[in-house]
Amino acid sequence: MNCNTDAELYSILETKGLIVFGVGNYFEQFCKQYPELVDKIVFCIDNNYQGELSLESGKSIYVYNPQYIKNIFNISEYVFLFCSSYALDMKQQVDEYLNIEYEYFEYPFCVTHPDKKIYKRIIAPLLMWQDEQQILESVNCNTWEEFLKKYKSNDISIIPRLVIVLTTKCSLRCKDCNELIGYYSHPKDLIKKKIIDSLEKLMKIIDIIPCCELIGGEPFLASIFDDVLSFLLEQTKVTRIEITTNGTIINKNLSIDNLKNPKVVIRLSDYGNEVNQGKFIEFMKNNDVNMEVLKDMMWVVPGGPEKRDRDTIELIKQYDRCQGGQICKCLWEDKLFGCVRAASLENLGYTMTNQYIEINDSTNLKMEVNNFLTLPYYEACNHCNLGLRDLEYIQPAIQL
Ligand code: SF4
Repeated sequence: MNCNTDAELYSILETKGLIVFGVGNYFEQFCKQYPELVDKIVFCIDNNYQGELSLESGKSIYVYNPQYIKNIFNISEYVFLFCSSYALDMKQQVDEYLNIEYEYFEYPFCVTHPDKKIYKRIIAPLLMWQDEQQILESVNCNTWEEFLKKYKSNDISIIPRLVIVLTTKCSLRCKDCNELIGYYSHPKDLIKKKIIDSLEKLMKIIDIIPCCELIGGEPFLASIFDDVLSFLLEQTKVTRIEITTNGTIINKNLSIDNLKNPKVVIRLSDYGNEVNQGKFIEFMKNNDVNMEVLKDMMWVVPGGPEKRDRDTIELIKQYDRCQGGQICKCLWEDKLFGCVRAASLENLGYTMTNQYIEINDSTNLKMEVNNFLTLPYYEACNHCNLGLRDLEYIQPAIQL
């Protein structure tokens, strides 16, 4: 790869055409940031979208299947830009098709190799909930360079999104539950004191924690639901609280005022004919609770809890690809895990190295959190199929 800077790409594009791989969120960001480079795009390729793509600027670009690049006669006249958090996989795919040397860049630019993990694990997820200015202001920085410097010296600490497990009780028995809830023979609520004490400790050392998510099992079955939600609503560092539910439980004992708080959003996956969610949706609508119904979602098959036989290189790639590992750091009572799956594995007796931070035992929690969030790989991925290159999709919530 060239020196991965926008200046170098500008210079190369004086004589070459640009092929962009990936037309998702990163591409949208690229088009906004570099409108003049968009004019240099000859075409785009993408694994999930093909056809004409209209950009906000009014320009249209054609998107082909990646195999299309096999037709290019003189590859030295082009430069590739990998525009996704899956840049490693994209490069591998292009290597397979071309089998010769070629020039390429990765967007975002200017992120040197050691800082890439911080970009991927901290900055990119943060940008999902806050804009650049909000983020920089909240940690008293003027530039990203300053941000990186402070982050690396542990002056600041951030968890972009924290998933808090309330209970292992659930009203459904989904065959492909990523959290392995069907494996619990004695489902129970988690211990409220441990959760609140841990959150208090985290809130003291974390500068930004824009999004928290409450989950179960089914969170509306948890007797500790209101207490944990009330605590989160008082935290100024938390600006959005998501409640992920299967939409089967209407718990009339819960505080509707808490649910109606503008910080709260209920996220409900539409399970089609598998589950009747009509009454739940009606109840929340009648009470003016903010709700997102996620339609046409497919689930990825995570597989069972048993250990696979993957080497470290594969685990690095898997952790790099997995969105859960990126935006679902998970609090299970007094332990902070890399993802929800890992937390559940531990509680089912699958213990491994680098799995969690013990919040109460930490002597330098800030540093430990920062190191933990930028681990190169995660052992738990050896017990999970999310984050594989070739994923298997199924209808959501198929029951056991
Ligand atoms: S175990 Fe690894 S692949 Fe599975 S959800 Fe967690 S981070 Fe992703």
